[in-house]
Formats: sequence, C-alpha cells, structure tokens
Amino acid sequence: MSDGCVYLVGAGPGDPGLLTVRGRELLSRAEVVLYDYLASRSLLALAPETAERIYVGKQAADHALSQEQINELLVSLGRRGKRVVRLKGGDPYVFGRGGEEALALAAADVAFEVVPGVTAGIAAPAYAGIPVTHRTVASNVGFITGHETPDKAETDLDYQALADWRGTLVFYMGVRNVGAICKGLTDHGLPGDTPAAVVRWGTTARQQTLTGTVANIAERVEGAELKPPALIVVGKVVALREQLNWFERRPLFGRRVVVTRARDQASSLVAGLEALGAEAVEFPTIRIAPPADPAPLREAVGGLSGFDWVVFTSANAVSGFFGALAEAGGDSRALAGVHLCTVGPVTAARLGEFGLRPDLQPGEFLGAAVAEALAATAELDGANVLYPRADIAPPALPEALTARGATVTDPVAYRTIAEETDAGDMRRRLAEGEIHWITFTSSSTVKNFFAVIDAEVVRAAKVRLASIGPSTSATLREMGFEPTAQADPHTIAGVIDAIVARGASAERRA
Ligand code: SAH
Repeated sequence: MSDGCVYLVGAGPGDPGLLTVRGRELLSRAEVVLYDYLASRSLLALAPETAERIYVGKQAADHALSQEQINELLVSLGRRGKRVVRLKGGDPYVFGRGGEEALALAAADVAFEVVPGVTAGIAAPAYAGIPVTHRTVASNVGFITGHETPDKAETDLDYQALADWRGTLVFYMGVRNVGAICKGLTDHGLPGDTPAAVVRWGTTARQQTLTGTVANIAERVEGAELKPPALIVVGKVVALREQLNWFERRPLFGRRVVVTRARDQASSLVAGLEALGAEAVEFPTIRIAPPADPAPLREAVGGLSGFDWVVFTSANAVSGFFGALAEAGGDSRALAGVHLCTVGPVTAARLGEFGLRPDLQPGEFLGAAVAEALAATAELDGANVLYPRADIAPPALPEALTARGATVTDPVAYRTIAEETDAGDMRRRLAEGEIHWITFTSSSTVKNFFAVIDAEVVRAAKVRLASIGPSTSATLREMGFEPTAQADPHTIAGVIDAIVARGASAERRA
C-alpha cells in the first residue's frame, strides 16, 4: 500500500487491551497519528518511533484544534500521501464526530477506512458488572447523548420516548446533567426506583462506579463530586452488578503502586500488577548503563578458558557479560568447561536465555554465604574466579573468595546510574495520598528513591513499602523504614504476591 489513506480507528474505551487487532496493525505502520483526550496514551507507543504524533484535543474546555481544523488536517495529510491513523476513543462513529471526519475525507476524495472500536457504552458497564442487555430483563439498549449546552432552554431529548423505552438507556457525556436527565425521565413516567449507575473512567485502573436509582443517583454523583468522563446507565440490568462485578473485585483494584525499577526492566512487574487490577506508577530511579571503562570486561571475556568459575549475582551482570562476549565475536561456547554459579532465580533464568544452566545456585544471596556454598562444591584454593559485577557491588563476595585462596577477577559489567525523574510530581502524589505502595527491587532503587524523595514525605504519606529480599530490606531499614512486605521467593512474582497478601485486606481509597 503506497498511497495515502486515513484510517479512522476506534481506540476502545481505555483499557489498551481492548484495541482491535486491525487497529494495532494499522498503528504499527502509521506515519502520522492524530489522537485525542480519551485515547489511551499507551496505545501511542504501538506506532513506530518515527511516526509523527499530533494531539488534537479535546477535553470539554481544552480544544487543541477545532473540528474543522481536524478535518482540514486529515484531508491535507491524506492528500500528501501519508498513512494516517486517526485514533478516536471508543468507536469512531459513536458520538465521536467520526462521521464528520469521514464526510470531509469523502468530499475531498481522500481514501479512508473505518476500524470500529469497542464503545464505552458497552465496555464500561461490562467492566462495572452490568450487561447492557439481558434475557427477560432488557431486550433493547439505547445510546443517548446527554450533552446539552447550558444555555439551551429546550432539550433535544425526547424524554417521553426514553421514559417509555423499557430497556437499558446509556447516556454519554451526561454526568454534568445527570440531575436534569433523571428528572426528565421521572417527569415523563419512568418509576423513580429504576436502578441507575454512573461509571467513570470505565475499563481503566481509575474506574469508579456509583449505583442507586434514577431518584437518587444525581445526589450521589454530586456527593462524590464525580466528573467526566462518565456514563449514566439506567435500567434493571444495573442490579446484576451485585453478582457480576468482576473488575473492581480483583485483588489490587484501585491500588496505585510505584515501580522504581529501571524502565527497561519494569515490564514484568508492571504487567503483573496491572493484571491484578493495580495502577502501576512508573518512577524509575535507576538506569542500567554499560561500564565507564569497557576494557577490563573485554579482557576477561577474551580469556574465559583461564577461569574455573564465573559467578553472576544479577541478571544485569549476565546481560553485560554476554554483550561484551558478543562484541568480541564470541558466544556461549567460550564458556565450555567453565563452571557457572548464579545467585537468584532471575539471574539463572537470564543465563538460560543463552542456553546455559548454572552448576551451582546458592540458596542464600549474601556474599559470605555464596562463597561458602562455592567452597562446599569446589576447591577454591588456587581457583580462578571471574565475577562480572555492578560498579556499586559490595566487596563481601570477592573478599570471602580471596580469603579461601581463590584469585578473583571482578570487572565492572554494568553501571547503575540515577534516572531523571519528575520527583516533584511524585512528592505531590505522595502528599495527596494517591499512592498506596512503593516497590523496591534492589538496594540501589531504595538509595536512588530516597535521594530524590525526602524520607519525611514518605513517612507522612503512610504508604506501604514492598521489598524484594533481605538486602533490599536492609537498605530500607538503614533509611529508617521497616518494609511492610518482603518477597519470598525473592522474585518479581514474589513481590506481587507479597503485596496481594498484605494489600487485599487494606481499606480502599479512591
Ligand atoms: N466515541 C466514544 C465516545 C465519545 S463521547 C465511544 O465510542 O466510547 C465521550 C463520552 O464517552 C464521555 O463523555 C463519556 O460519557 C463516555 N466515555 C468515554 N470513555 C469512557 C470511559 N472510559 N468510561 C466512562 N465513560 C466514557
């Protein structure tokens, strides 16, 4: 496909997993992406890095571009032969003004295609435990705009028809008018005890649901100060939520959990937390960088046959080591005959990616204990041990090995450096009680976190702290904090389990 085309793509209601396969495919080869307020930002990451990303609005008061300007932009990009993805929240043709954009393209003779999306009016109720139709309860569903300009004296809505509808009514853009809408319905004969719900930010970790009746839901919305984007659902199906509310009942729903790991290592923790309903707040405090001086590691990988053992105490060390080996034109075969020791299951798993299995996996992770386990397996006196390490690795392990007669070569395989972060924003979120947990997956995440966030701010926030294991917990204690939970096993999955074990009983904050 060489010619330009504009794709009006439904982004789904918020949960990035609800984008269609077709939408993802088009995003992955887009040259330009136009997106608005409701399209999940994480979907933008699916477009090539080179793609131009244009924000076109619009949140009620902030219209980055007017609809006419958006139409003109789409036409001109299409005419220039670009592959354009116009990403629109939910479905492009459901209250999305997608029809106007398509008409403008058609009038200008620019090729376009439409990729329907999962509309919020179906998805948000589903995630709130409300099926929009249900046998014997509701055999029809109506999607209605609840948006009315405040100065409009007359309403466009036919309240008589809506009150007589006898199915489910789903109002988009209506929270600000919820009182007027409910009054319109009851004034025209809809019984006041008809169940009603309002779902805000449906399908996302921020989802919030209020339930009641058409007689009292407006009051509840006002009491909770619930703001857009939200849907109003009216009808008997709302009562099914009591049995079908699966999403908000997940163990970590509504919990905001800070992930301090390096960004390129955070994905499994982020995904694991999100799968249980938490909102992962990425705040990478460290970044993994190559050694400042690559020569010692390069030299070591050039002479591997001279070593009896290689000891890896972290997955980063494994990656740094094999990076240097590959750069030198070598591969795993250079380790033939060399014994391998890994500390921790994640380190062993990373080694496995290179087709290698450790000869020894000590059960304890502290330097002295690792040396002891090695001594129990092999003669260390006169042995040559290679220990590719972090720049900030404590000297305990090489010292203990040397004390037992081994010759230790310990080149730096990677550096842990502070990552630039928006510490001000994190301080604010902590102070406002938005954060429930902070996770620490190494001592350096602890040190670098407290280098930019005052201990006092954390203490005042009464936030819970999760540690991956004893060394990380020890560093936390040095900072004056007792970890709320410590992982066992000392893995990412262990951290998540520890949070669930402690977090499920916690009171829920909005
Ligand atoms: N084209 C979109 C709707 C755009 S109109 C779709 O098909 O979903 C914008 C309105 O949609 C909002 O005012 C709100 O009523 C509703 N909406 C969109 N996303 C929502 C969400 N995640 N949760 C609740 N309502 C949402």
